[in-house]
Amino acid sequence: MTMPRLVSRILALAFVASLAACGTVGTSGVKNTSKTFTTVIVDAGHGGKDSGAYRRYGPPEKMVTLDVAQRLERKLRESQVKTVMTRDSDVFIPLNDRVAMENKQKRAVFVSIHFNDSRKRRTHGFETYYHSGASFDLANGIQQKLMTIPNSANGGVHTANFRVLRLANCPAVLVECGYLSNRSEGNQARDWEYRELLADRIAEAIVEQRYGAGVYRSRPQIAAQLQPPAEPASSNIPSGSR
Ligand SMILES: [Zn+2]
Repeated sequence: MTMPRLVSRILALAFVASLAACGTVGTSGVKNTSKTFTTVIVDAGHGGKDSGAYRRYGPPEKMVTLDVAQRLERKLRESQVKTVMTRDSDVFIPLNDRVAMENKQKRAVFVSIHFNDSRKRRTHGFETYYHSGASFDLANGIQQKLMTIPNSANGGVHTANFRVLRLANCPAVLVECGYLSNRSEGNQARDWEYRELLADRIAEAIVEQRYGAGVYRSRPQIAAQLQPPAEPASSNIPSGSR
């Protein structure tokens, strides 16, 4: 069925007018809070019965995402940014619950931490995903900061239909912090100092997105003091649970 031409014209004009009038609300209903947010929702991918990417050696994805997310959360708090974590332990949180948590916040951005997996063991690099246009700057900023890590490979910034991105009403991004299936990136992910570096670069991108370049101060000494002497992620997993 075709719409009468006049009606479709009026609708088109109204659409264009709405784009011009609302600086902060995009076409998808996503509020662009990327420069005004007060809260960062930090989402550690997977958890509990959902292990995420799995390797024969080293911790599963759910453990390394939680560790990077906790480090990121701490760094954001040190930068006077409010934070909410979707999970702070090894528990299963359904995707819809994560979406509910992100959409409960008024002025927020959502950052989900994942590690990648591929059957091709050579595949490697950082990838950052977003869905709404309002999320692009944050996604791009995070990808650029990750690329300052020595020997990093650029997997690019891409759109994706992941539920936590598609259903978000705030800027939302998902970061794939390298491939666990790749020998080099998998080894790095097992190293807490490297995970600290990942968290630091992501935190820097988020803080700069909000407050401008050069504002972020990394506090490695404090982070180092908080480190337990033993490597936590790999030693915590009883071999029987693999
Ligand atoms: Zn994942």
